[in-house]
Amino acid sequence: MAGIYIHIPFCKQKCTYCDFHFSTSYQSYYDSMISCLQKEIVARKDEIQNQVIETIYFGGGTPSLLKTTDIEKLLQTIHATFHCAENLECTLEANPDDITLQQVEAWKSTGINRLSVGIQSFDSEDLLWMNRAHSADEGLNCIRIAQKGGIKNISLDLIYGLPNMDNDRWMKQIQQAIDLDVTHISAYCLTVEEKTALHQLVKKKQIQPASNEQQSEQFELLISALKNAGFEHYEISNFAKPGFISKHNSNYWKGIHYLGIGPSAHSFDGNSRSWNIANNQQYMRLINADEIAFEKEILSSKDQFNELLLTGLRTCWGVDMTALQKHLPFSKEFEMKLADFQAKKWIRMEENQLILSEEGKHWADFIAQELFA
Ligand code: SF4
Repeated sequence: MAGIYIHIPFCKQKCTYCDFHFSTSYQSYYDSMISCLQKEIVARKDEIQNQVIETIYFGGGTPSLLKTTDIEKLLQTIHATFHCAENLECTLEANPDDITLQQVEAWKSTGINRLSVGIQSFDSEDLLWMNRAHSADEGLNCIRIAQKGGIKNISLDLIYGLPNMDNDRWMKQIQQAIDLDVTHISAYCLTVEEKTALHQLVKKKQIQPASNEQQSEQFELLISALKNAGFEHYEISNFAKPGFISKHNSNYWKGIHYLGIGPSAHSFDGNSRSWNIANNQQYMRLINADEIAFEKEILSSKDQFNELLLTGLRTCWGVDMTALQKHLPFSKEFEMKLADFQAKKWIRMEENQLILSEEGKHWADFIAQELFA
């Protein structure tokens, strides 16, 4: 069992807070990039050759900028190269301004059966400073259009902890998402990444992000509102209606192998991690010269121990302590910290799985780091 991620490094415009890899001036080499993505899929076939592909995920960037014929080409290349499961989960990240009824029907005809829609906010003022390409109305309407077009499995992304966002405004956002009857919601706390326009705005004091307390309160409100609306909180930032957990993302957290195609994409094969060059021109030059376009790192036992803790603790399934101990024996310090977090009721042990409590979810990264080898 394995997954394939394809990074589409194109965007219409640069969102203020974004530090992903993409280019807004890609039109002249769009076709060459598609052909390089196909080449890379074939060139790396041995990395997951003997495994059944269970999920394909078009992420970015903005995959909804792809021509339908190119989605078809990429999917055909994958099907011709690998053995794909019959109930393949095939996700496309889409921005609201690219969603039309005709487009949704076309995506569906290619085999896309899940959309992850970058709403981020239903508020026009937020969308303006974020420099999103869509309006608040487009955000609301696109979900209904996607549902009408026959895609049932729809996830939407929201961001909390925004400047000037009080709890009432955040609750309104959550309710709007619930009312759209989507199957999945991903909600992320705003982080101010260096080298983003947002970082500059914060430095110049033109924008003031929410305080840690506000962010924590909004996370709490999110958890309880979505729980009441029938969503399962299965990963720190992810909530799903029964039967609609994202297979692709869950596989990342469960340590399942995946192959990342395209500039900046990451791959994992159980023992090593690799990351493709995050430069469109250099990526195409290397792929066209049949050269390797990624760097690779063999994971030490310590790396694997820490990674299992970090990813497992974020999920509702927790960390399998037997699997963890296979990487490294538990140190005295580890045992003491574990006991301390259990005493604080931040974590609990259930049938040998280490799981965060509701309160512990606020401290997920801190707890993982404290327990790192
Ligand atoms: S559309 Fe997505 S990837 Fe592109 S700049 Fe905005 S947030 Fe980043």
